[in-house]
Amino acid sequence: MSDLSLYIHIPFCVRKCRYCDFLSAPENTGERARYIEALGREMKCRSEDLKKARVKTIFWGGGTPSLLSPAEFREIAKGLKTCTGEWDEDAEWTIEANPGTLDAEKAGEWRRAGVNRVSLGVQAAQDRLLERIGRIHTFRQAKESVGILREAGFSNINLDLMMGLPGQDLNDWKETLEEALSLAPEHLSCYSLILEEGTPLLRAVREGREILPEEEEERAMYEYTLRRLEKAGYRQYEISNFAKPRYACRHNLVYWELGEYQGLGLGAASYREGRRLKNTTDLAAYIRAEDPTKLDTVEEESSLKDQMEEWMFLGMRKTEGVDLTEFRRRFGRDGEEVYGDVIGKLEREGLILRERNQIRLSRRGLDLANQVFAAFLL
Ligand code: SF4
Repeated sequence: MSDLSLYIHIPFCVRKCRYCDFLSAPENTGERARYIEALGREMKCRSEDLKKARVKTIFWGGGTPSLLSPAEFREIAKGLKTCTGEWDEDAEWTIEANPGTLDAEKAGEWRRAGVNRVSLGVQAAQDRLLERIGRIHTFRQAKESVGILREAGFSNINLDLMMGLPGQDLNDWKETLEEALSLAPEHLSCYSLILEEGTPLLRAVREGREILPEEEEERAMYEYTLRRLEKAGYRQYEISNFAKPRYACRHNLVYWELGEYQGLGLGAASYREGRRLKNTTDLAAYIRAEDPTKLDTVEEESSLKDQMEEWMFLGMRKTEGVDLTEFRRRFGRDGEEVYGDVIGKLEREGLILRERNQIRLSRRGLDLANQVFAAFLL
């Protein structure tokens, strides 16, 4: 029986953050109930396929899954359990939550259903910065949320934090990290703000109404993060992700290791047998469809070359890098033969380190990671 990870998309948020281009929106009356019904239909239609695999990890993302009421959560969780077969004994089940939408009743419900990891969108410790990027909550609410989750028995909590926000300087970032550390999370994701096309924040920056920190200052934030989190006992296991021992996010590792995953819900992406698929992004069509799986589109039929490239550049995101023995096992080709020249060049440039068959980013390579990833495109 093969392993499979599941992603469930909940596309609703209280209101849109100014930087966000994810598939999410404030809901209209009744939309959420109809969406949950459609999600149930999709799970049922995929049931035969899902039951052939063993579920390894589950991730409910969004949007804001913590917006769901306990009854709504129960309904989806019940559908999920009915449409899947065997689960790993210690399957990782994460739910994304946002402060301001979370209470003890919901947290208790998640816990009872088997959710064992919560990823909380905190972003910054300064309310003036949270307001500027359009978050709905204060930092005090983020702290309260962690308290609620601990009280409910969660012992695996991730906090999402953001660098490079408008009006943020190195001292703000240091304070954010200290405040986050004081909450003793098991995992921290520290991402740089990316200005996405079509977002109000990008418009404001273009029009000079918002100013982002200089590149040098943002780099100083990242470098400080590496030092500070290492000192606090967190291991960096990916460019932006840090965890206490044994708390690396197994679901994300599936993405970086090109494992199989099935997306459920609006716009959810899947990777199955070398094919990238995507559910429809049309909410009205999804809700209407009797069989929402009929609206899937195949994004890409990956060739062996595509798969080798992806496996290399996704794997290199991990601090442990990739193992060329595994490359041979997976693709039946000698990694040395395919990438020998590239590896040699990157090694000479000091961008990667090699120990026998294991290659990984050097400290310099971490700063120039995109350059390294691009080198693996054949
Ligand atoms: S809460 Fe997350 S998904 Fe929702 S609008 Fe904000 S960034 Fe986007």
